Amino acid sequence: ESNPNLIRATLFPGDGIGPEIAESVRQIFKVAEVPIEWEEHYVGKEIDPRTNSFLTWESLESVRRNKVGLKGPMATPIGKGHRSLNLTLRKELNLYANVRPCYSLPGYKTRYDDVNLITIRENTEGEYSGLEHQVVRGVVESLKIITRQASLRVAEYAFHYAKTHGRERVSAIHKANIMQKTDGLFLKCCREVAEKYPEIKYEEVVIDNCCMMLVKNPALFDVLVMPNLYGDIISDLCAGLIGGLGLTPSCNIGEGGIALAEAVHGSAPDIAGKNLANPTALLLSSVSMLRHLELNDKADRIQDAILKTIAEGKYRTGDLGGTASTTEFTNAICDHL
Ligand code: NAD
Repeated sequence: ESNPNLIRATLFPGDGIGPEIAESVRQIFKVAEVPIEWEEHYVGKEIDPRTNSFLTWESLESVRRNKVGLKGPMATPIGKGHRSLNLTLRKELNLYANVRPCYSLPGYKTRYDDVNLITIRENTEGEYSGLEHQVVRGVVESLKIITRQASLRVAEYAFHYAKTHGRERVSAIHKANIMQKTDGLFLKCCREVAEKYPEIKYEEVVIDNCCMMLVKNPALFDVLVMPNLYGDIISDLCAGLIGGLGLTPSCNIGEGGIALAEAVHGSAPDIAGKNLANPTALLLSSVSMLRHLELNDKADRIQDAILKTIAEGKYRTGDLGGTASTTEFTNAICDHL
């Protein structure tokens, strides 16, 4: 029986360390009294012919219905004849933008302590269209597809995000001096959208220069929007600026207002089932999800408790140089709540 006062959200605990870090989210949401009811779905043991993947049709329907979900890491089983899990999710749910907030965690020392930026990656086309072939022996060709529709959609999302999150500036990252047609069109679309948001500053930065600026002074950036491949690379670069993939949340935005938040890291088979995983990335992803639902009070409280626990330094997991278990770290966050 579902409670009409609760928001229903889909939860994919995922594989490997997934169930352990998902349990941490469940526990913290309970303590923080977040009004969410989870609809849990595991990756199936066999291929579902309706999705041609190990993801069940029911689990995809659940996300389509709830429009909001949280996903742990998924390990795609090796073998032929089925689609990768992440690709299935992206295609079936039309997840067109990947959003990664990247901010310095106070108390966890990295080279920078003033990173506070958001990368927004176009997630459906560009170099990832899968159109590669051999022209003649020794010559291959890969097609980079940029469409006006997808570029406008991601640009619109970036400006909307900036406006609704109190951000001041959007930087479009490109290489239009070389990729004149493709990146040229991407920029043209960004400019068109920028005109509708006069209150948000807009700039264009060439990707090579962007990389140099990011490693020299990441505080120069606010919101960055870019085509698929650049986004893949730049978002990992930014994760590195704040301490790595174990700390980095992300959220995928799909057609019709779907938001599927997920940790960036994989299933970490080397430490799975040992109560050693750091749940921070999934927790901060769940915070992104709460902000998407405009449950900002809950999001602030949980984020605050996570940051305090890390800053205090008493309970940190192994990847952050500590000795705490997943449960000890989670309990410490609950104490802060
Ligand atoms: P990985 O991210 O799982 O692990 C890389 C290293 O980081 C390992 O040493 C691991 O122990 C450590 N690590 C990762 N997350 C951690 C956490 N939360 N706490 C502490 N340590 C953590 O990458 P991999 O080994 O290349 O991939 C393993 C599996 O995960 C593969 O099957 C891959 O396909 C899958 N994968 C899934 C996703 C996803 O679902 N989004 C992303 C990447 C990889």
